[in-house]
Amino acid sequence: MATSRIGNTDLISELNSRLVLHAVRVMQPTFRAQVSRSTGLKPATITSIVNNLIDQKLLRETPGNAETNTRFGRPPLLLEVNRDFKRILAIDLEPDQIRVALTDVLARILDYREQKIDRFDRPESILAQIIKLCRTVTGNLPTGQLQGVGLSLPGLIDREKGILHSSTNMPKWKDVSVGPWLEKELKVPVKVDRSIHLAALYEKWTHPESLTRKMIVISLRTGIGMSLLQDGHLYVGSGGLSGEIGHTIVDINGKPCDCGSSGCLETFVGAPAIVARAHELIKAGRAKALAERIASGALLTPELIYTLARDGDADCIAMVRTIGHYLGIAISNLINLLGPDEVVVCGAIDEAEAPLLEAIREQIDTSALPRLRASAQVRVAAEHEKVALLGAAVLISQDIFELPSLRHSDRVIASPKATPRL
Ligand SMILES: [Zn+2]
Repeated sequence: MATSRIGNTDLISELNSRLVLHAVRVMQPTFRAQVSRSTGLKPATITSIVNNLIDQKLLRETPGNAETNTRFGRPPLLLEVNRDFKRILAIDLEPDQIRVALTDVLARILDYREQKIDRFDRPESILAQIIKLCRTVTGNLPTGQLQGVGLSLPGLIDREKGILHSSTNMPKWKDVSVGPWLEKELKVPVKVDRSIHLAALYEKWTHPESLTRKMIVISLRTGIGMSLLQDGHLYVGSGGLSGEIGHTIVDINGKPCDCGSSGCLETFVGAPAIVARAHELIKAGRAKALAERIASGALLTPELIYTLARDGDADCIAMVRTIGHYLGIAISNLINLLGPDEVVVCGAIDEAEAPLLEAIREQIDTSALPRLRASAQVRVAAEHEKVALLGAAVLISQDIFELPSLRHSDRVIASPKATPRL
């Protein structure tokens, strides 16, 4: 009995500490009194926890500015997260590209590298390239300074074992133990998750208001994925699989898809489909600006099409609008099915954001039910193609700042009057 009581006290103390860390992260820079009001913890408890967290170098105090100074006496100090507490290595493996970043504990990028890869290449070769990029961004950083490695993977994975079972866009990857292999090479704990889940995790991390909303995150990459967040909780299907919106059928008589079906959304808006459509246009003597760029050595990628669309090329704008049209059909179906408050589209689409959003919204206005579409805001993720990479960093950060075992606690922080924890 006595042991149980001690255990409970320790648990409450740990939870309160996490509660304070989370509150400071969301509100920083902030005063102790604000943390007390937000968490419902007594000022004396806040003082004890904060002093302990400062000793552990997880929090630090900074002087306030003129606006926060009081008229009398010493100006109160503000609290903020010590973002230099540790470093995080984030890796995003996409079928056509790898991205690697060294971040601080707030998932802010300190160094970044990216490299194009051949999706038909052997896993061993691609993993060697990943390690090379990792060593470039970590430089001489002592291993002890790394909090961990977050890895974003496409396809079907085993999160616990760090295995990539299969990916329709990387046919040679079958049951590859990516996580354990990286862990052995880098000598740091590695956590993995699906890229679309990590994109949603990053949106949740940067948008505390999502904790009380229903949010759909759509990832437009080589493949298309989707995550659903309800009040901050991720919906995950049986066996950890769900969100394969790229393989929902748009045209039953459409082209064959790599998944074995036909007419999937990815056969219209997946990167290979976009590139194939551009090739057809060039062959037909259209898309002259694009043809000129290819002739001068540029790689034909969706990103190049987006760049030319931004520069006003009519054919590339038309291609972006076609992508928006099909995405708009898929998003309208999701709005009708799930009634979200917000739909976030992420991917390397910053150059084409305006025409893409316009086409998506036009299609939603045509296809989604009026009352449902009226409450669904559609926006593009601010971090564009780096959302999954940053989500991989958050996968490690949340071990410090979040309360994974008490999921409802997120709501405590989000609400103005929190439940006291002591
Ligand atoms: Zn498919």
